[in-house]
Amino acid sequence: MVNHMRHTHSQSAERRSHHALVGVRITLCESCGLPKMNHRACTNCGKYNKREVLNVYKELDKKTKKTKVPSTAKEPDKIEKVAKVKEKKVEEVKSEKRVEKKGK
Ligand SMILES: [Zn+2]
Repeated sequence: MVNHMRHTHSQSAERRSHHALVGVRITLCESCGLPKMNHRACTNCGKYNKREVLNVYKELDKKTKKTKVPSTAKEPDKIEKVAKVKEKKVEEVKSEKRVEKKGK
């Protein structure tokens, strides 16, 4: 390296002053009002510049075909059972904490 190629710390810092990353810019969709990324079609209504570009319903149909129905949805009794078990566990943890506090 030749001496005239040397950069001072401030020269490097000045160059790097333009390297900061900018966060994702989000605006509200003009037609449906939901947040969407700038320069992208709205994922909710499929519109860009108030013009429909994406067929959202087509994608929806694909997704509904792909997603499996969760086992709990088939048996509504199971959901109640799971909820009851969760409540019991929460109560157990709470009572254990109380015991610990009393012990101290
Ligand atoms: Zn929209």
